Amino acid sequence: MATSAHHAHASRGAGTVVENYVKAIYTLQSRGEDTVTTSALAERLGVTPGSASAMIKKLDGLGIAEHTRYHGVRLTERGESIALAVTRKHRLLELFLAESLGLSWDRVHGEAELLEHVLSDELVALIDEKLGHPTRDPHGDPIPSADGVIEEADTWALEALEVGARGTLVRVSDSDPAMLRYLAERGIAPGDRLEIVDRQPFGGPLSVRFSDSIEAIGGTLARVMRVELHGRARGARSKPPVDEIGP
Ligand SMILES: [Zn+2]
Repeated sequence: MATSAHHAHASRGAGTVVENYVKAIYTLQSRGEDTVTTSALAERLGVTPGSASAMIKKLDGLGIAEHTRYHGVRLTERGESIALAVTRKHRLLELFLAESLGLSWDRVHGEAELLEHVLSDELVALIDEKLGHPTRDPHGDPIPSADGVIEEADTWALEALEVGARGTLVRVSDSDPAMLRYLAERGIAPGDRLEIVDRQPFGGPLSVRFSDSIEAIGGTLARVMRVELHGRARGARSKPPVDEIGP
């Protein structure tokens, strides 16, 4: 009988492909779009619009997402709780791999991407307990609670800050190991305090003071480093852009 194996699998989640779609829709939705277009989803997942569209229909049939013709797709409540559950697994795994197994922070994301789909609820609870119910992963991202509540503070991209702005680096997108290594080699990590000391024109690099060094940070890196400002509303060029960092 295949039922017991089937049940074991079901208790471990909705399946890798479904979960990856759900995560991608969740991230695109969190950019503030009402519905996510098939093409945006296909691009994010690196699949053809045809396969994205077929999967959207499947998710609709499963009650995980709602598909509206000509508009796009949106997660249902059930879809959102799947997204938060997978995100919780991912971020707890990252912290576990970094803290308990000593994996460097540029490597934990890739491992967590694989393990998040097979981790049982029991194991997640044990990891959570072992780590003392943490609220942040090693990249500074908030860990959703077991009942699906996520605490998102207002953060600004480093790139959006003016000279004189002071704050704390709270998170760095975790999906680019080379960028994380670059920061780690310079001793920069979430939790560090920083101040913008200079800003080159025309999108050039920012000079940023960390505790004992001044670093030139520009381009892609300045866009994925998120800062919580000290002295609110001072030093930012605009309202906080909606967070674009995925799980
Ligand atoms: Zn990650």
